[in-house]
Amino acid sequence: MSTQTANQTVLVTGASSGIGQGIAIAFGQQGANVIINYHSDEEGARHTLSEVEKGGGKGFVCQADVGKEEDVTRLFQAAVDTYGTIDVVVSNAGIQKDSAFSDMTLDQWNKVMTTNLTGYFLCAREAIKIFSQKGEAGPGDKAKGNIIFMSSVHDIIPWAGHVNYASSKGGILMLMKSLALEVAPKKIRVNAISPGAIATDINDDVWKDEEKMKELLKLIPYQRIGQPEDVAKVATWLASEDSDYVTGTTIYVDGGMTLYPGFVDNG
Ligand code: NAD
Repeated sequence: MSTQTANQTVLVTGASSGIGQGIAIAFGQQGANVIINYHSDEEGARHTLSEVEKGGGKGFVCQADVGKEEDVTRLFQAAVDTYGTIDVVVSNAGIQKDSAFSDMTLDQWNKVMTTNLTGYFLCAREAIKIFSQKGEAGPGDKAKGNIIFMSSVHDIIPWAGHVNYASSKGGILMLMKSLALEVAPKKIRVNAISPGAIATDINDDVWKDEEKMKELLKLIPYQRIGQPEDVAKVATWLASEDSDYVTGTTIYVDGGMTLYPGFVDNG
């Protein structure tokens, strides 16, 4: 494992639980400064901070709704005020508001889009402004900043009953690629991680239920549900110099869920 993110400043949104919490802790273990954003679960965020500190990192918690422009500006300013700049932004905060399509309210649609897509735009825009202040970049220079978007296998796998969520993740795919193209000459890298099923609060109705787990495993050729650490290891690598030539791409961390498991040959 590379420790190249030591002393880097990393901002993680939605880091009071689940994947964001796992990522914040992993960066802490590498000695990074970690800004732990949370929406409403301050206790969860404080737990993340204590784990970051236990691992040898530093940081602070900061409440902000990623869908609100003024909150996002305040969040990024707090990071700059404390550490001078930011090196890595992990845009991770996300929600589901599930409904059959014909019953889906505009509120359910808007809430998911505001957090999962507009929130990613707002955070990426602040990140690019801050990375750009690091001065002109030469062709041989290493990255001046890294953005990692937490997408989902549902950026390419359609999901009935979750059209708002899948649309937001599909949107992230093109947000990531178009932005990566635009800022690559500035030596800013932009990538996405698309997890499959990872055991967190967002899907605890599934992994806490034996029958539903059995059904889920039919979709996972690797035959286990993922853990936040599986995703965190990829995030720290994507933020390190070891992945310096990687931009504009999505890494699927899904135990093979995107391999069309229905086509498995059982003999
Ligand atoms: P989670 O519910 O534990 O984490 C989501 C986090 O986002 C929570 O901490 C929540 O408080 C925060 N959040 C929600 N709205 C916010 C807002 N407006 N502003 C700031 N923070 C907000 O679930 P998770 O599984 O850890 O999800 C993290 C990301 O991973 C999401 O983007 C999700 O879509 C994605 N993802 C998860 C899975 C999975 O199987 N768990 C699979 C694919 C993608």
